[in-house]
Amino acid sequence: KKIRWKEISMIFQGAMNALNPVIKVGGQVAEVLMLHEGMTKEEALEVVRELFIQVGLEPGRVNAYPHQLSGGMKQRVVIAMALALRPSLVIADEPTTALDVTIQAQILDLLKKLQRRFGVSVIYITHDLAVLAEVANKVAIMYAGYIMEYGDVVSIFKEPIHPYTKGLIGSIPSISRIKKRRKLFSIPGAPPDLRQMAPGCPFAPRCPLAKDICRKEVPEPREINKQIVRCHFADELVGVPPEDIWLKILETA
Ligand code: SF4
Repeated sequence: KKIRWKEISMIFQGAMNALNPVIKVGGQVAEVLMLHEGMTKEEALEVVRELFIQVGLEPGRVNAYPHQLSGGMKQRVVIAMALALRPSLVIADEPTTALDVTIQAQILDLLKKLQRRFGVSVIYITHDLAVLAEVANKVAIMYAGYIMEYGDVVSIFKEPIHPYTKGLIGSIPSISRIKKRRKLFSIPGAPPDLRQMAPGCPFAPRCPLAKDICRKEVPEPREINKQIVRCHFADELVGVPPEDIWLKILETA
């Protein structure tokens, strides 16, 4: 309780539905300030009006109920709530999933601006690689609960090393791929059931490069070219284009 909201706050997945439908949005944000900072309701609402301006809402919206706001506005309210106590870290779990594409861009832009203005770090949890490319400095690619590859965003997108990361990058349509006449592909199979994990590398059942050792030992993370990679054969995969691993396998399947 001590660190929640004050040190670390969270923008939850489907946050727009997290607002209480029968309480005015200003009151919901004010509650955080009243509980943690001991402010009176009037003092807290004054701070909330200021916060609403920062997130691009009219201050008078403090008197609105959630159903009177659009999806993008509700998301701005939730962002204001997450920033109300000036935490040092915000965890944003799929913060734009339920929004249409133009509003998504506005919200991501707002989060980037607020990140700089408030000096806050943001961890984005997302399946959307386009969102990652837009907002992240560092990227951790996760599979079955393990970080498979970690590095700066440009390296991860331009020079992925792990077979899973190469598969993800190879599945994104892009102008440069079209120009280079590179085929798109997908990774066959499905993620494992975490209750019944086989021994060894968690990606082995889907990996085209899996060898005996992969089915016996979980690879340790290793640093290669300033990226952290969890693969027994990471050294041999530097600079190998995704197609060289995935397309041959898919074409012969
Ligand atoms: S350790 Fe083996 S199975 Fe796991 S990603 Fe590397 S090559 Fe594939």
